[in-house]
Amino acid sequence: MDTEWMALGNCAEEPPAMFFPSDGVGVEIARRICATCPVKEPCLEHALVNRIDHGVWGGASERERRRILKRRRLAEMASAVTNPGRTGADTEPDGGHHAPNCPAA
Ligand code: SF4
Repeated sequence: MDTEWMALGNCAEEPPAMFFPSDGVGVEIARRICATCPVKEPCLEHALVNRIDHGVWGGASERERRRILKRRRLAEMASAVTNPGRTGADTEPDGGHHAPNCPAA
C-alpha cells in the first residue's frame, strides 16, 4: 500500500490526537488544517478504501466519510441497473469506448 503521501501532510508536525477529536470543535480544527493539505485527496481515499471509521482524514469527518461511501454505493447500484452486465469502463482494454451495437463492445 502506498502511504508515502503521509509524510507530506500538513498534519505531519501535529499531534496525532488532534485528528481524532472527541467533539465538533476538534473536528473543525482538524478540518482547517486539512483544508490546505497538499495530499488531501489520497488521504481521504486511503480512509475510504480502508474503511477507517475514526478520525478526520482528507478533511472529512467520520460522518462525512460514511455519506461519501453511501453515495458511492448508490452510484454503483444505479450504474449496475443502467448498464447491466457491465463491470465498468476501466475494466475494458480500450476504456469502454464502443458504440452499444459494436461487435467489439
Ligand atoms: S488531509 Fe488532513 S489528515 Fe490527511 S494528511 Fe493532510 S492534514 Fe493529515
